[in-house]
Amino acid sequence: MTAPKPDPFAGAPCRSPEHTAWIREHRASQWDYYIDGETKDQSIARRRRSVGICFSCPARQACREKQEQLDASGIWGGRVFPDKPEHLAEQSGDIYGEERAA
Ligand code: SF4
Repeated sequence: MTAPKPDPFAGAPCRSPEHTAWIREHRASQWDYYIDGETKDQSIARRRRSVGICFSCPARQACREKQEQLDASGIWGGRVFPDKPEHLAEQSGDIYGEERAA
């Protein structure tokens, strides 16, 4: 019998109990690209905070690999991946909105 694989996302702030509580309160993740009801400024500020948190995350490399695998939107590994064409247009010219993996 083999030992279970270690969780590559162990210790990730986006999986912390604090963030789980935030998700319940806001019905969204701080690492979502877009959250209903946010203004553009609020959205940009939240994304910047989340990107900053990612840079100290022990799971950053695994997170980037997972994003590539899923081609998912949101904030992954300290990068912002927009989720809808209308949001791309809305954020045009802002690195926290237009950055996209090559
Ligand atoms: S790098 Fe990925 S796993 Fe870590 S906090 Fe950011 S989004 Fe979460």
